[in-house]
Amino acid sequence: MGPGHPERPERLRAIMQGLEQARFASLIRLSAPRAEPEALQRVHPQSYLSALERAAPREGYAALDADTLMCPKTLEAAWRAAGGAVAAVDEVMSGRADNAFVAVRPPGHHAGAHNPMGFCFFNNIAVAARHAEAAHGTERVAIVDFDVHHGNGTQEIFWADETTLFCSTHQAPFYPGTGGRNETGVHDTIVNAPLLAGSTGEAFKEALADRILPRVRDFAPDLILISAGFDAHERDPLGGLRLREADFGDATKRLMEIADRRCGGRIVSMLEGGYDVDALSRSVNAHVLALMGVSGDANT
Ligand SMILES: [Zn+2]
Repeated sequence: MGPGHPERPERLRAIMQGLEQARFASLIRLSAPRAEPEALQRVHPQSYLSALERAAPREGYAALDADTLMCPKTLEAAWRAAGGAVAAVDEVMSGRADNAFVAVRPPGHHAGAHNPMGFCFFNNIAVAARHAEAAHGTERVAIVDFDVHHGNGTQEIFWADETTLFCSTHQAPFYPGTGGRNETGVHDTIVNAPLLAGSTGEAFKEALADRILPRVRDFAPDLILISAGFDAHERDPLGGLRLREADFGDATKRLMEIADRRCGGRIVSMLEGGYDVDALSRSVNAHVLALMGVSGDANT
């Protein structure tokens, strides 16, 4: 994204370094393949895919909006990020993996069907949901987004889709300005739980327990997807919430309990934001340990 941009390669390096620890040795590790065009076309029209190809610079950077830039390698990374979503759904739906965490950049939840936005080009979590339906016959998919920013692109894509539940906790008022409680979608399958700036893990836990988890449970999904942004961490330079890494671990455990009861434990989690690299790495550790079913302090 260019020098000084928060969405930078060090984010993934820190995550990968954190996951080198011995307690993660039992994980299955796969490289994200390039998505098939068909997988992206379930979410984004070909005209948009072509427009992005045309916008890609041969050298230097091309700005698509004030904070969303492309370098010559951005599109390849974006195709692989979406491909990681598809591959993770395949691994989990086939039973080869119990669940999956997809550590990829660029993130996806601000991207609409027709537009890039907020560091995002392809809506990876929407690609995952549509692939689960098309390739594995899921009838209901629940998406839970705990990034500090509202997943406006995901909400827009599934606004009128009764087969997909979209639930989000996020700081509000804040970028991108959407995510009010009154935004519930055509079929009441959109659930927003906005949090005021300065909210701690307690408020986050309450929002999940009161507004989101019961809806996920009642929806009886065949698969749970997580838009796992870690920029609600208290050390994040972009977000204004005060979560700690253990809060992400706890939220993950609550979702695992529902997944175990409702859908054979099937969860695919996609990285979204998180811009303090140390806090990001520790938060991912807590999240992945929870996905592995390991309890206790994530950072001892
Ligand atoms: Zn974010």
